Amino acid sequence: MKITDIRTYCLSTPLETPFAYSQGWVKARGATLVEVLTDAGVSGWGESICMGLQPPQIAAAAIEHALKPILLGADPRDVEVLWHRMYHHTRDYGQKGALMGALSGVDIALWDVAGKSLGVPVHRLLGGAFRSRVEAYATGFYRLRGPGEAKRLADEAASHRKNGFRAMKVKLGFGIEDDLAVMRAVREALAGEPVTLMIDSNHAYGVADAIRLGRALEDAGLRWYEEPVVPERPADYRAVREALDIPIAGGENEYTLFGFQGLLAQGALDVAQPDLCCCGGFTAAKHIVALAHAQGVQVNPHVWGSGVGQAASLQWIASIPVAHHALFAAEPVFEYDTSSHPFRSRLVKEPVLQHEGWIELPRRPGIGVEVNRDVLEEFAV
Ligand code: CA
Repeated sequence: MKITDIRTYCLSTPLETPFAYSQGWVKARGATLVEVLTDAGVSGWGESICMGLQPPQIAAAAIEHALKPILLGADPRDVEVLWHRMYHHTRDYGQKGALMGALSGVDIALWDVAGKSLGVPVHRLLGGAFRSRVEAYATGFYRLRGPGEAKRLADEAASHRKNGFRAMKVKLGFGIEDDLAVMRAVREALAGEPVTLMIDSNHAYGVADAIRLGRALEDAGLRWYEEPVVPERPADYRAVREALDIPIAGGENEYTLFGFQGLLAQGALDVAQPDLCCCGGFTAAKHIVALAHAQGVQVNPHVWGSGVGQAASLQWIASIPVAHHALFAAEPVFEYDTSSHPFRSRLVKEPVLQHEGWIELPRRPGIGVEVNRDVLEEFAV
């Protein structure tokens, strides 16, 4: 089997209501999709992440100009070989960021081809599924104005509970006092409900404030405290982790085994959160899981993609072992964005849907999606 073409699709659509997280206003949804075509009639889909503020064209340009020329004619099933070929070829100007997102999207599409060509889901190629369903946690709690939205966010928490979620992650990083007001309101709205909370400040604070926020929430039974400080400073992560009795999570802005080695070796994390669509794809994901496992750190992926990225992430999450085995160990959970998103609901014919807080693992070949080409055209940049 040979790769005959690699196509990229840049999608964008403005948001009816822009929203903020601690790093800026998100005004549009973007997505970079990758299609690997072969001479065997099998094609595979992948996705390069578009973080909230990221334009989709950057990763697409890297795929078109840097990766496609070195992959044409190769056997797409040689996933590990091709990962190294792409990594070595781009190392001197890549390693991280949108370039690694580009490599990730291609790698995911190669695994999709490999699964489809054998008629098996990707989780089977990864060594099998540890779980046949994955618990979803609600991500959302974005701001429509900025500070002072505790009441509205408490209502949002109640509606997530009504929709079946038993775990939710609250976006913070709008000032310590405002953050604490939000958490008071959210906890009050959920009083007596069997709900676990996480918090995520998207590295809005330095070490002192990050610790101050965490200390004030130590009685909240948080499952984790995500991105308390900037991703470039593992020593700051360690300082926060040593000061608090809350598991510290991070890694959505880190890449490959090399990047995670830096975080893990410094004792920065309790929970590593690579995103499949930027950490280096399934191939790098396997490396990172092994590395984290050896350090006693649980991998629980970050998920922020379209229906393609979500489907691929689900295949991966099903195959991740728990780092601390117990009969009733905490299993990895699926980050389920609850804001409206046409690239999730309409882009693929089999969107990832939660029911009563759970997502069933599909058994279709590859990553298990068929892309609606009319949606690709409708939102093409
Ligand atoms: Ca996050």
